[in-house]
Amino acid sequence: MPRTIRRMKLKICLVGERAVGKTSLIHRYVHNAFDDAYRATLGSKLHLLSFSKHVTADEIVEAQIALFDLMGERAPRDVFRDAMFWGAHGFLAVADLSRPQTLYQLPGWVQAVASVAGDVPYTVVLNKSDLVPGGTIGPQETRWLLATFPRIPYALTSAKTSEGVSRAFQDLLERSVDGVLVRSRARRKINVVAGRLLM
Ligand code: GDP
Ligand code: MG
Repeated sequence: MPRTIRRMKLKICLVGERAVGKTSLIHRYVHNAFDDAYRATLGSKLHLLSFSKHVTADEIVEAQIALFDLMGERAPRDVFRDAMFWGAHGFLAVADLSRPQTLYQLPGWVQAVASVAGDVPYTVVLNKSDLVPGGTIGPQETRWLLATFPRIPYALTSAKTSEGVSRAFQDLLERSVDGVLVRSRARRKINVVAGRLLM
Protein backbone atom coordinates (compact mmCIF):
# COMPACT_ATOMS: atom_id res chain seq x y z
CA MET A 1 0.00 0.00 0.00
CA PRO A 2 1.36 3.44 -0.92
CA ARG A 3 1.93 5.61 2.15
CA THR A 4 1.64 8.99 0.51
CA ILE A 5 -1.16 10.12 -1.74
CA ARG A 6 -0.44 13.36 -3.49
CA ARG A 7 -3.33 15.17 -5.06
CA MET A 8 -3.00 17.58 -7.90
CA LYS A 9 -5.15 19.34 -10.45
CA LEU A 10 -4.01 19.48 -14.05
CA LYS A 11 -5.17 21.67 -16.89
CA ILE A 12 -4.62 19.97 -20.23
CA CYS A 13 -5.45 21.67 -23.54
CA LEU A 14 -5.97 20.43 -27.08
CA VAL A 15 -4.99 22.89 -29.77
CA GLY A 16 -4.71 22.93 -33.55
CA GLU A 17 -6.62 24.09 -36.63
CA ARG A 18 -10.36 23.60 -36.94
CA ALA A 19 -11.65 20.13 -37.87
CA VAL A 20 -8.36 18.30 -37.20
CA GLY A 21 -10.19 16.09 -34.68
CA LYS A 22 -9.63 17.67 -31.22
CA THR A 23 -13.22 17.15 -30.08
CA SER A 24 -13.26 13.63 -31.59
CA LEU A 25 -10.03 12.65 -29.81
CA ILE A 26 -11.50 13.72 -26.47
CA HIS A 27 -14.74 11.92 -27.27
CA ARG A 28 -12.79 8.76 -28.11
CA TYR A 29 -10.61 8.97 -24.99
CA VAL A 30 -13.35 9.91 -22.52
CA HIS A 31 -16.34 7.97 -23.92
CA ASN A 32 -14.63 5.50 -26.28
CA ALA A 33 -16.95 6.60 -29.10
CA PHE A 34 -16.80 8.37 -32.46
CA ASP A 35 -19.22 10.54 -34.43
CA ASP A 36 -18.84 11.30 -38.16
CA ALA A 37 -20.85 14.52 -38.05
CA TYR A 38 -18.84 17.71 -37.66
CA ARG A 39 -19.99 20.23 -35.10
CA ALA A 40 -17.66 23.16 -34.61
CA THR A 41 -16.69 23.71 -30.98
CA LEU A 42 -17.96 27.09 -29.83
CA GLY A 43 -15.69 28.76 -27.33
CA SER A 44 -14.29 25.99 -25.19
CA LYS A 45 -15.63 22.92 -23.51
CA LEU A 46 -14.38 21.30 -20.36
CA HIS A 47 -14.18 17.59 -19.53
CA LEU A 48 -13.23 16.38 -16.07
CA LEU A 49 -11.53 13.08 -15.41
CA SER A 50 -9.18 11.53 -12.93
CA PHE A 51 -5.82 9.90 -13.40
CA SER A 52 -3.48 8.17 -10.98
CA LYS A 53 0.15 7.31 -11.21
CA HIS A 54 2.59 5.51 -8.92
CA VAL A 55 5.60 7.78 -8.72
CA THR A 56 7.55 5.61 -6.29
CA ALA A 57 6.78 2.36 -4.45
CA ASP A 58 5.10 4.30 -1.67
CA GLU A 59 3.92 7.46 -3.34
CA ILE A 60 0.90 7.69 -5.58
CA VAL A 61 -0.32 10.77 -7.42
CA GLU A 62 -4.03 11.25 -7.85
CA ALA A 63 -4.70 13.92 -10.42
CA GLN A 64 -7.95 15.58 -11.33
CA ILE A 65 -7.73 16.47 -14.98
CA ALA A 66 -9.55 19.29 -16.71
CA LEU A 67 -9.36 18.68 -20.47
CA PHE A 68 -9.97 21.90 -22.39
CA ASP A 69 -11.38 21.42 -25.85
CA LEU A 70 -10.64 24.73 -27.54
CA MET A 71 -11.94 26.09 -30.79
CA GLY A 72 -9.44 26.06 -33.63
CA GLU A 73 -9.69 29.69 -34.67
CA ARG A 74 -6.53 31.73 -34.86
CA ALA A 75 -8.07 35.18 -34.26
CA PRO A 76 -9.46 34.47 -30.73
CA ARG A 77 -6.32 32.48 -29.97
CA ASP A 78 -4.20 35.54 -30.56
CA VAL A 79 -6.51 37.91 -28.69
CA PHE A 80 -7.40 35.67 -25.73
CA ARG A 81 -4.35 33.48 -25.41
CA ASP A 82 -3.77 34.40 -21.76
CA ALA A 83 -7.29 33.39 -20.79
CA MET A 84 -7.16 30.18 -22.82
CA PHE A 85 -3.76 28.83 -21.90
CA TRP A 86 -2.91 30.31 -18.50
CA GLY A 87 -1.98 27.56 -16.05
CA ALA A 88 -1.91 24.73 -18.61
CA HIS A 89 0.23 21.81 -17.40
CA GLY A 90 0.45 20.09 -20.78
CA PHE A 91 -1.15 20.03 -24.20
CA LEU A 92 -1.77 18.06 -27.36
CA ALA A 93 -0.97 19.93 -30.58
CA VAL A 94 -3.19 18.22 -33.15
CA ALA A 95 -2.88 18.10 -36.95
CA ASP A 96 -4.90 16.27 -39.62
CA LEU A 97 -2.76 13.81 -41.61
CA SER A 98 -5.04 14.18 -44.63
CA ARG A 99 -4.44 17.98 -44.69
CA PRO A 100 -0.69 18.67 -44.43
CA GLN A 101 -1.30 22.42 -44.12
CA THR A 102 -2.71 21.75 -40.63
CA LEU A 103 0.69 20.33 -39.72
CA TYR A 104 2.49 23.46 -40.87
CA GLN A 105 0.18 25.57 -38.64
CA LEU A 106 1.33 23.75 -35.49
CA PRO A 107 4.29 26.01 -34.61
CA GLY A 108 1.84 28.92 -34.21
CA TRP A 109 -0.30 26.89 -31.81
CA VAL A 110 2.65 25.58 -29.83
CA GLN A 111 4.09 29.08 -29.59
CA ALA A 112 0.74 30.49 -28.43
CA VAL A 113 0.47 28.00 -25.56
CA ALA A 114 4.13 28.11 -24.58
CA SER A 115 4.18 31.92 -24.47
CA VAL A 116 1.52 31.79 -21.74
CA ALA A 117 1.98 28.43 -19.97
CA GLY A 118 5.78 28.24 -20.25
CA ASP A 119 7.85 25.16 -20.94
CA VAL A 120 5.24 22.44 -20.30
CA PRO A 121 5.13 18.97 -21.90
CA TYR A 122 3.28 18.48 -25.15
CA THR A 123 2.83 15.94 -27.90
CA VAL A 124 2.41 16.50 -31.61
CA VAL A 125 -0.62 14.41 -32.57
CA LEU A 126 -1.08 13.38 -36.19
CA ASN A 127 -4.72 12.41 -36.34
CA LYS A 128 -6.93 10.69 -38.97
CA SER A 129 -4.32 8.03 -39.72
CA ASP A 130 -7.21 5.91 -41.07
CA LEU A 131 -7.54 8.31 -44.04
CA VAL A 132 -3.94 8.02 -45.17
CA PRO A 133 -2.62 4.95 -47.03
CA GLY A 134 -0.18 3.24 -44.73
CA GLY A 135 -1.37 5.49 -41.90
CA THR A 136 1.81 7.53 -41.80
CA ILE A 137 3.37 10.74 -43.12
CA GLY A 138 5.60 11.32 -46.13
CA PRO A 139 9.40 11.80 -45.96
CA GLN A 140 9.10 15.56 -46.51
CA GLU A 141 6.69 16.03 -43.58
CA THR A 142 8.78 13.73 -41.40
CA ARG A 143 11.90 15.76 -42.09
CA TRP A 144 10.09 19.02 -41.38
CA LEU A 145 8.59 17.63 -38.17
CA LEU A 146 11.91 16.44 -36.79
CA ALA A 147 13.57 19.75 -37.66
CA THR A 148 10.75 21.88 -36.22
CA PHE A 149 10.01 19.90 -33.05
CA PRO A 150 13.25 18.16 -32.11
CA ARG A 151 12.86 15.79 -29.14
CA ILE A 152 9.09 16.32 -28.99
CA PRO A 153 7.19 13.04 -28.91
CA TYR A 154 4.65 12.55 -31.63
CA ALA A 155 1.70 10.22 -31.89
CA LEU A 156 -0.17 8.80 -34.87
CA THR A 157 -3.83 8.53 -34.00
CA SER A 158 -7.26 7.86 -35.39
CA ALA A 159 -10.20 9.03 -33.33
CA LYS A 160 -12.28 6.95 -35.75
CA THR A 161 -10.61 3.56 -35.21
CA SER A 162 -9.17 4.54 -31.77
CA GLU A 163 -5.63 3.69 -32.88
CA GLY A 164 -3.03 5.38 -30.69
CA VAL A 165 -5.55 7.59 -28.85
CA SER A 166 -5.38 6.39 -25.26
CA ARG A 167 -1.62 5.96 -25.49
CA ALA A 168 -1.24 9.59 -26.62
CA PHE A 169 -3.38 10.92 -23.76
CA GLN A 170 -1.84 8.70 -21.12
CA ASP A 171 1.70 9.50 -22.11
CA LEU A 172 0.94 13.23 -21.98
CA LEU A 173 -0.80 12.93 -18.59
CA GLU A 174 2.18 11.05 -17.14
CA ARG A 175 4.62 13.63 -18.45
CA SER A 176 2.41 16.45 -17.14
CA VAL A 177 2.34 14.88 -13.65
CA ASP A 178 6.14 14.49 -13.79
CA GLY A 179 6.48 18.11 -14.90
CA VAL A 180 4.46 19.33 -11.90
CA LEU A 181 6.52 17.18 -9.51
CA VAL A 182 9.81 18.46 -10.91
CA ARG A 183 8.67 22.09 -10.72
CA SER A 184 7.33 21.72 -7.17
CA ARG A 185 10.58 20.08 -6.02
CA ALA A 186 12.54 22.97 -7.51
CA ARG A 187 10.23 25.39 -5.70
CA ARG A 188 10.69 23.55 -2.39
CA LYS A 189 14.45 23.86 -2.79
CA ILE A 190 14.11 27.60 -3.32
CA ASN A 191 11.85 27.85 -0.25
CA VAL A 192 14.38 26.00 1.89
CA VAL A 193 17.17 28.30 0.74
CA ALA A 194 14.97 31.35 1.37
CA GLY A 195 14.10 29.97 4.82
CA ARG A 196 17.78 29.62 5.68
CA LEU A 197 18.51 33.14 4.55
CA LEU A 198 15.73 34.46 6.78
CA MET A 199 17.15 32.63 9.81
P1 GDP B 1 -12.08 19.79 -34.15
O1 GDP B 1 -12.63 20.99 -34.88
O2 GDP B 1 -10.59 19.80 -34.16
O3 GDP B 1 -12.66 19.62 -32.79
O4 GDP B 1 -12.49 18.51 -35.04
P2 GDP B 1 -13.66 17.45 -34.79
O5 GDP B 1 -13.31 16.50 -33.71
O6 GDP B 1 -14.96 18.14 -34.69
O7 GDP B 1 -13.59 16.59 -36.15
C1 GDP B 1 -13.78 17.22 -37.43
C2 GDP B 1 -14.29 16.18 -38.43
O8 GDP B 1 -13.31 15.20 -38.66
C3 GDP B 1 -15.54 15.44 -37.94
O9 GDP B 1 -16.39 15.21 -39.05
C4 GDP B 1 -15.00 14.12 -37.42
O10 GDP B 1 -15.94 13.09 -37.52
C5 GDP B 1 -13.81 13.89 -38.34
N1 GDP B 1 -12.71 13.15 -37.68
C6 GDP B 1 -12.13 13.42 -36.49
N2 GDP B 1 -11.16 12.53 -36.22
C7 GDP B 1 -11.13 11.66 -37.26
C8 GDP B 1 -10.33 10.49 -37.57
O11 GDP B 1 -9.44 10.07 -36.83
N3 GDP B 1 -10.60 9.87 -38.76
C9 GDP B 1 -11.57 10.30 -39.61
N4 GDP B 1 -11.74 9.63 -40.74
N5 GDP B 1 -12.31 11.40 -39.36
C10 GDP B 1 -12.12 12.06 -38.19
MG1 MG C 1 -13.93 20.89 -31.78
